[in-house]
Amino acid sequence: MPGFEVRTLGKTGIRLPVLSMGVMRADNPNLVRAALRSGILHFDTANGYQEGRNESMLGTVFKGVPRENFVIATKVSLRRDLTGDRAPRLLMERFNTSMERLGLDYVDILYLHAVNSAEAVLHEPVHKVMRQLKKEGRIKYCGVSTHDREPEVIDAVIKSQVYDVVLTAYNFKKQKEVDIKSAIARAAAAGIGVVAMKTMAGAKNINVSAALKWALQDKNVTTAIPGYTNFDELDVCLGAAANLAYTPEEKAFIDGGDKVASLYCTQCHGCDGQCPQSLPIPDLMRAYMYAHGYRQPGLAKETVAALNLPENPCGGCQACTVNCRSGFLVADKIKDISRIRNVPDAFLV
Ligand code: SF4
Ligand code: SF4
Repeated sequence: MPGFEVRTLGKTGIRLPVLSMGVMRADNPNLVRAALRSGILHFDTANGYQEGRNESMLGTVFKGVPRENFVIATKVSLRRDLTGDRAPRLLMERFNTSMERLGLDYVDILYLHAVNSAEAVLHEPVHKVMRQLKKEGRIKYCGVSTHDREPEVIDAVIKSQVYDVVLTAYNFKKQKEVDIKSAIARAAAAGIGVVAMKTMAGAKNINVSAALKWALQDKNVTTAIPGYTNFDELDVCLGAAANLAYTPEEKAFIDGGDKVASLYCTQCHGCDGQCPQSLPIPDLMRAYMYAHGYRQPGLAKETVAALNLPENPCGGCQACTVNCRSGFLVADKIKDISRIRNVPDAFLV
C-alpha cells in the first residue's frame, strides 16, 4: 500500500498495512473490492456476523482472487459452550460452516471470539482443536478476540503459548479507564500480533481520523479493523492511515476525549458489584449495542441467551441502584434487550 505504514503481525511474520477492514456491518461487496483495490489486505469477519451472510459475501468477493493477495480472519464464539466437553465439537462444526461460506481452503487467522476471562483463554480442549486445524493447514494462525477485561485476557494469551494473535478493543476512551496499553506492550514483546478493534469507542460526534490515529500511533498495534460501511467512511480511514500524525483539530479532540459522550456502554466495569441481583450488566449493555448500534439482532440474541437470565431480570427491584459512569439508565436498556430472547430468529434478519 504506497504511502501507508506496514507492520509485522508478531511472530506470524504477516506484513499488514496499518489499516484493515472490519467487515462486520458491511453488506456491499463493492466496498470490500474498493478496500482491496486501495491496498487493504486484511479482512476481519466472524461466524455470527449477519447470521453468516458476512462470510458468504466475502466468499463471493474473493472467489478467483489470488490467495496471496488477501488475509482473512474469522471468529467462532463459544461463550455459552466453553464449559463441559462440547467446546471442541462446536468449534469444529462452526469453523466448518465458516469455511463453506468463505469458499477457502484455509483462513489466515481463526479467533476464539469475545473472550472475557483468563480461564477461557487457557481452555485446553480448544487448544487441541486449534493445533489440529493448524496441522491440517486449514488455519495458519489462531487468536482470541476480547472487548471485556482485556488486560487479563491478553496476559493469558501470552501465558497460553498457543495463540499467535490478539484482537482487542482499544480506543481513546479506554485510555485512562483500563490499562490495556501496557498489556498490549507485553503481548507485542512476547511476539503476539496485536490487532485493534472498536477504535471509535462507540462514541457520538466522533472525529474518526483522530480516533483511528490514536490507536495506530501505538507501534505495538499492527493494524486496526475499523468497520466502515460506505465509500465516504473508507476514504476517511484511508486518509487517516496515510498520515498518522494528528492535525491540530484531531489533537484537540483526543485531548478532550474524556468529554466525548458514548452512545453505548464502554465496558469499563465501573458498575461491577452494584446490582443486588448480580446481573452481568456490561454483557447486557453490549448486547444492547449489538442490537441498536450494530443492527445485529441475531448477535444480540445470542449474547443475551448465553447469560441464562430469568425471564424478567430486573423484576425484583423497585428502583435501580446501579450508577453507570457514563450515565446510562441500565435498567431501561436491560428491559429492552432482554425481550429479544422471545423474538423468533426469522424476524431478526
Ligand atoms: S433494576 Fe438495576 S439493580 Fe435491579 S436488577 Fe436491574 S440492573 Fe440490577
Ligand atoms: S454500564 Fe456504565 S458503568 Fe457499567 S460497564 Fe457500561 S459504561 Fe461502565
